[in-house]
Amino acid sequence: MTRLRGVVFFALIGAVTALALLSRLPVDSPLSSDTIPLAAFETSSASPIPDRQLEVTPPIVDNPEATSLPLPTLSVASPAEPTPVPPVVEAAALLGQPPDSSGENPASLPATPAAEGWSPPSLPVPLARHPYDHYWFIRPVTSAHVNSGLIRYPYGSTGTNKDLRIHHGIDIANPVGVEVLAVADGTVVWSGRGHHNQYESITAFGNTVVVQHNLGYRGKAVYTLYAHLSAILVEPGEQISAGQLIGLIGATGQVSGPHVHFEVRVDRNSYYAVRNPDLWLAPYAGTGVIAGRVEFPDGRPADELEVRLVSRNTGRTTHRTLTYAGFGVNSDDLWNENFTIPDVPVGQYLLTSHFGAIRWSGEIEVREGMTNWVEMEVRGAGSSP
Ligand SMILES: [Zn+2]
Repeated sequence: MTRLRGVVFFALIGAVTALALLSRLPVDSPLSSDTIPLAAFETSSASPIPDRQLEVTPPIVDNPEATSLPLPTLSVASPAEPTPVPPVVEAAALLGQPPDSSGENPASLPATPAAEGWSPPSLPVPLARHPYDHYWFIRPVTSAHVNSGLIRYPYGSTGTNKDLRIHHGIDIANPVGVEVLAVADGTVVWSGRGHHNQYESITAFGNTVVVQHNLGYRGKAVYTLYAHLSAILVEPGEQISAGQLIGLIGATGQVSGPHVHFEVRVDRNSYYAVRNPDLWLAPYAGTGVIAGRVEFPDGRPADELEVRLVSRNTGRTTHRTLTYAGFGVNSDDLWNENFTIPDVPVGQYLLTSHFGAIRWSGEIEVREGMTNWVEMEVRGAGSSP
């Protein structure tokens, strides 16, 4: 009953709080007060969890031959292990970053209303129209609300102003009290204040739920984490199914406004075992996900560069994102991307990026319900795409 009263209470204050907070775009605040034990960098023994049966469904496009699709250069036969960087670097990147007042006022960041307010239905899961794909999760918020991540603080970035801590998940912003759903079947392995286990002790998450899913990925366990909840509606050990209500959106922990911080973790239930949720949450109908890698000619990834997406139909820039900042976040085991753009309407696009005089560009046709890999090629200085 206490929990039920809590729900009612937060639902009531939700409407009031939402009005007060809607003008403030929420993001996580730096994890300055958290301790990340070095155990986070140890690798666990292999999980016995079997892979999910890959259900490769053909895309709803003409001639969907998988062999015609551009693939990243990474070999399937020797998949990349997540490569944790030295603990000193990790710890410094996280703990040494002081709270930044500009990060507390993200309302000043560029708005992206088209994407943040647009929530059409997602495609049914599991969805894998490319052999590398694993769109096995529904969105943790229904399409009646905003259910895409904040574009100005994508996974792997430090935010548009580059003043936030590196983002290990995505932020789905909604008023306090909006329902948060499990993205797939599984078992609740954590519910409580912060997140504390053998790998980490993070209080900044506020009220948090972690689910270990029944499916595995390449022999590894898969977890999802839901943070900053106003109410928790499940208990550890509970078996839950996809779409089940597990909590309510809130603003607990270190946040600047109400949202759910959502992470996907593979192999270990660790802050350093995250993957990009954009590659796990089924795209909206009529859209696909763009993934790519901006790298220097010697193969080093180009960190924290803006990537612009231009529609070939309109000639307009429809989206801007950032390449991964480098420390502590992982690329997909097979795609090896360092940026993604989710929920891109099908069509022809040009992507560009630059670092000083070095310019990259790539062309892509976005197909529905799948990852669309774009080859970002160096064009050199001064050349126009
Ligand atoms: Zn977040």
